[in-house]
Amino acid sequence: MALLMLIFSKIDELQAHLSPTRLQGESIGFVPTMGALHQGHISLINESRRQCDQTVCSIFVNPTQFNDKSDLERYPRMPEKDALLLEKAGCDVLFLPDVNEIYPDNEKAVFDFGYLNEILEAEHRPGHFNGVAQVVKRFFEIVQPNKAFFGSKDYQQVMIVKALVEQIHLGIEIVSCPILREVDGLAMSSRNSLLSAEERILAALIPKMMQKAKEIALTKGKNEARAFIVKEIAAHPSMKLDYYEICDANTLQILPNATANKNTLSLIALFVGKIRLIDNLILN
Ligand code: AMP
Repeated sequence: MALLMLIFSKIDELQAHLSPTRLQGESIGFVPTMGALHQGHISLINESRRQCDQTVCSIFVNPTQFNDKSDLERYPRMPEKDALLLEKAGCDVLFLPDVNEIYPDNEKAVFDFGYLNEILEAEHRPGHFNGVAQVVKRFFEIVQPNKAFFGSKDYQQVMIVKALVEQIHLGIEIVSCPILREVDGLAMSSRNSLLSAEERILAALIPKMMQKAKEIALTKGKNEARAFIVKEIAAHPSMKLDYYEICDANTLQILPNATANKNTLSLIALFVGKIRLIDNLILN
């Protein structure tokens, strides 16, 4: 375990540190984050430490992936607390750049992910994945890791990142890690800290309704499952559904129903008050 975590905010300093590591044949694992870290993030650090010699974590609240300006402004930021958590977890390097370091010339990259960039999160957050791909590509080129670790809570994001790596031939292995949940089942998220006490109680209903909807989907079909979700959410005026879908877990093709012969997944996005939360659940 690293006794002391190194913190860099400049690309050249980070690279000057990482090049000898790479030359010595040590593998580099990378965990990109937007900070306000929780145990879900730490589980990615742990997985990287299991699989790689050196673990680099980045904290960067990426403006280009926010389609809602107020969401960007209110996004929680606590780098000192994050650094302590990371050091305790045995992370070797924290990269903490500012916006000018990442986007010096303000160029806008445009990517084509076809169908993956038309559905679900892409449909409800226009431009979001383009911004994600832009920042992930930039960080991959800076850090040049052997493996990068992402959480399957952001299921569609993992698929976009895998598509990106194929498109730009970077030869980085993308490792998808399981969702970590709070004791009451709510998927851990930096945005949970923005919920009021009442909203936090309501948010705990999300995994419960997903579980019940899964049973309904498998016995009665998708329409009934969605009708159940709509009814549950309608019972709470501060909750608002963005989408509930059932998809092929390998391709994210939207399915007319949950079928026994395919890996299927249900995905949800909803607002609790002003805070937008997402979750997903494997159906079979
Ligand atoms: P974020 O800081 O929200 O951009 O997340 C950084 C990484 O942590 C992404 O790969 C997320 O999918 C992952 N992550 C976020 N929440 C969780 C969670 N509850 N369990 C596992 N990974 C997560």
